[in-house]
Amino acid sequence: MFHPYETFILLYSISECTRLPMKTYKLQAGLIIPVHQKPIPNGIIHLDADGIILGLYDESEYCSETVWYDGIICPGFINAHTHLELSGMKTLIPEGSGLNAFIGHVEKLKQHHLTDESLMLAAMDDMWESGTVAACDISNTRASISVKNNREIYWHNFIEVFGSHPSVAQSQFDKGIELLKEFQSRLPQFKSSLSPHATYSLSTELFNLLKEYISNYPGPFSIHNSESEDEIALFTRNEGKIATRLREWGVPSDYLPFSAKRPLQSIYNLLPNLQRVLLVHNTLSNAADLDFIMQAFSDPWFCLCPESNQYISKQMPIVVLFRKFTDRICLGTDSYASSGSLSIARQIYLLMQQKNGPGLEEAIRWGSINGARFMNIEEKFGTLEPGKKPGIIQITGFDLQKEHWINEPMVKRIF
Ligand SMILES: [Zn+2]
Repeated sequence: MFHPYETFILLYSISECTRLPMKTYKLQAGLIIPVHQKPIPNGIIHLDADGIILGLYDESEYCSETVWYDGIICPGFINAHTHLELSGMKTLIPEGSGLNAFIGHVEKLKQHHLTDESLMLAAMDDMWESGTVAACDISNTRASISVKNNREIYWHNFIEVFGSHPSVAQSQFDKGIELLKEFQSRLPQFKSSLSPHATYSLSTELFNLLKEYISNYPGPFSIHNSESEDEIALFTRNEGKIATRLREWGVPSDYLPFSAKRPLQSIYNLLPNLQRVLLVHNTLSNAADLDFIMQAFSDPWFCLCPESNQYISKQMPIVVLFRKFTDRICLGTDSYASSGSLSIARQIYLLMQQKNGPGLEEAIRWGSINGARFMNIEEKFGTLEPGKKPGIIQITGFDLQKEHWINEPMVKRIF
């Protein structure tokens, strides 16, 4: 971790300026993006030794202790969707193979690469160094419990349940509850809640068990939504690779979720739609889908994971459609199984390249305060408001005059 303390001590000792108390820092950057207020060109942020924000100023507050940072300073990122327990699968799954083949690869690899703690810790370090301060993590097993205490990242654990055949509904649900209770008792400092995996991977019976449970317990849930053409084909035409796979798994035709409607239009009645929900990926969502979601759910949030979408299916969500709901968009990296990085800055960069994509300030909001609001941790994270300790990061690679990326973002962690 880069730390300005040594630089500060040096500057302090040779400086004539004595206004700053010991062990506080003034950092100046080409652009400070506080998120809760307008960006400050050449702005200055004042921090104490723990990284708690003491104040935000324009350049008139410069004094000789002020340390200059090229580029942008913004709050730490919130990664709203990752799978820490898949950290061992980096580069093992071929790019562009499509969601159905991807799931097949994950299922095979899980037997060999799931529980290596050193790989999960390395992934957590990558997240931390690339600016992430809090994350929503999908857990299918207890593998990540023992490592999550070892780093500073704040977690929300989504205990994920799936099972397409009705005969396994009760046993899969019971397994999920048992795992949830273990997460809650061993990681009491974090939140954990139960979640269905995807629109297509639970029987009606299992959806109903989850709906009843989630409706009675606080905490958001997440669900993978409209990630591939095969998912759309299954629901609307009862065909495609996911339909074939479910048949191969012995799911009777009667139980395939064919409805002649789009995925969420088909299953929204099976979801606890009064609870806060994170709809993940939405790669194939169209304008009508988004309007439907806003009506059918009382508190929907969208998580975009563009790097993973490119890796799995070489597709991207139509980002301009989501901007209509800009205060409800979060960003996620997915895992190393489907992504070359765990960097939220890289998701920002990719989305900003899209036609009518977000500007820099809007995209940073998606990667910071929106995720914090979804996780209910906005009092601590997501903005550079005085009194908060949200993590302080520097991003370079963006031309502030011409307002475009000159190369991929480089992130340095300051606090
Ligand atoms: Zn995922």
